[in-house]
Amino acid sequence: MLRIVNYPHPALRHKSKPLRRVDAELGKIVREMFALMYQQKGIGLAANQVDLPYRLFVLNLEGDPSKGQEHAFINPVISKRHGTAEAEEGCLSFPEIFAPVRRSEKVTLSAYNLAGQELTYELTGLFARAAQHEYDHLDGVLFIDRLSPAALLSIKEKLRDLELQFQGDRRRGVIPEDPQIFARLNELEALRT
Ligand code: ZN
Repeated sequence: MLRIVNYPHPALRHKSKPLRRVDAELGKIVREMFALMYQQKGIGLAANQVDLPYRLFVLNLEGDPSKGQEHAFINPVISKRHGTAEAEEGCLSFPEIFAPVRRSEKVTLSAYNLAGQELTYELTGLFARAAQHEYDHLDGVLFIDRLSPAALLSIKEKLRDLELQFQGDRRRGVIPEDPQIFARLNELEALRT
């Protein structure tokens, strides 16, 4: 059973290594990630956000299983970037926090799908933005790292609330201590990367 972890959970800062293979178990993880994403009304979710150390993210820009198209990007690589664009972003690991982020306007992204085929996409608009946001997660980079000083200041109190909530969860034993989290991530990584 997967669950979404919130900032400042250390899994969100883990830089993942490429997966060695695409198999049925990975397909099961992807289905669970889509289910969680829809439940939380998101349009994208990266493996780090469900405490898994894999280079994998899912997207459905409609955020609705009956609409839009589902994409699973495995071992994605962004090879080209063009232009810049700024727009408001949120993140399922930062509930109710939104802020403007500057990103490339167009990107070329190559990735494997669940059938093990390598595909290349030319992305623009929301698709390009969401893919860059999720791609960042795989390197342990969060959207708050890309904010202007003014935008960061405007959400500072909400970030502090999440930090307090995390510390509280940890005191209650809901979240393991850092060494246990790192040991589990390393163990999972050794099996699949
Ligand atoms: Zn995110």
